[in-house]
Amino acid sequence: MPAVALISQSALTHNLSIVKNKSSAKIVAMVKANAYGHHLDLITPLIKNADILAVSGLSEVQKLRQITSQPILLLSGVHSSQELQQAIDLKCQIVIHHPAQIALINNNTQALSVWLKIDTGMHRLGLSDDEYQHCLSSFKSNSLITIECVMSHFACADELNHPMNSLQLETFEQLTSDTINRSMANSAAILSNPASHFEFIRPGIMLYGASPIADNNYNLQPVMQLSAPVIAIKTIQAGTSVGYGATWVADQQTTIAIIGIGYGDGYPRHAKNGTPVLINDILCPLVGRVSMDMITIDIGNATVSIGDTAILWGHKKLRVETVAKYSNTISYELLTGISGRVSVVSGE
Ligand SMILES: *Cc1c(COP(=O)(O)O)cnc(C)c1O
Repeated sequence: MPAVALISQSALTHNLSIVKNKSSAKIVAMVKANAYGHHLDLITPLIKNADILAVSGLSEVQKLRQITSQPILLLSGVHSSQELQQAIDLKCQIVIHHPAQIALINNNTQALSVWLKIDTGMHRLGLSDDEYQHCLSSFKSNSLITIECVMSHFACADELNHPMNSLQLETFEQLTSDTINRSMANSAAILSNPASHFEFIRPGIMLYGASPIADNNYNLQPVMQLSAPVIAIKTIQAGTSVGYGATWVADQQTTIAIIGIGYGDGYPRHAKNGTPVLINDILCPLVGRVSMDMITIDIGNATVSIGDTAILWGHKKLRVETVAKYSNTISYELLTGISGRVSVVSGE
């Protein structure tokens, strides 16, 4: 019996309604990385009323185009005339974030919709002030090119009081004061910074029910519930170690349940001793190292049988944000890291 990731349709719909309650801007639903690990084919039908879907690379556009005729935004843009032609054939809108892309787009002979991405402080992708002005003036004389929107990305949106947030917003507003369509907000900014919403918002992680902001889940509901079966149970004596490296030693007699999920499925190997696992409605601590195919949990006196189901995350008592914290990572990495061995199935 493999580990299962159950995808809740109603949770996704609920989270989308939270997005809409927060802002009346148009919605760019972020479905990169196979819809944050939730599988494009399961998620796409649930976000039919998003205004546009965004993915990172052309291979993702190809997969997405097979299942929807909705507008698609290609975040990485294109880097050769072949890629440009592919993007046009797939009818996607293209982000331009680098000066090398400006000439490439300008030489094209077909009608094309683009988004311009400017760097307001992230210093990763995006045109500088000068490059942006150059881009605007060179596209102005090209009737084939439609500039749909000007966008930028926050570096620190999840830290509500970080000074970068207002600095980036100010820079963005200055550069785009005469722009009709603008887009800046990811999930953290949608939840916390209405001044950043503009005309298009770009929710990602919040659609999937994880909060990007510590200590506040904003009533978001987990979309993915990851579970796996109990495959063995054993009682061990005080002083007995469990797992690779014998790193955990029982300080009293206790009962260990072995769960059929490990880092080969995407459960984080760095999950610490004490990371909670929900079994028969009781939170039990992970003990010992995570193996490729299994983990060990201390169930104490709880009543547990072989074949019972353990929930690893995606429950109101055990959110993925908690597991991420115990694993020194973020929910994004855990959700996108589910391996091909896990069966991802659609549920109510
Ligand atoms: C992934 C991504 C987002 C969404 O970020 P979340 O934190 O998941 O909401 C928004 N904008 C861009 C450019 C992205 O790449």
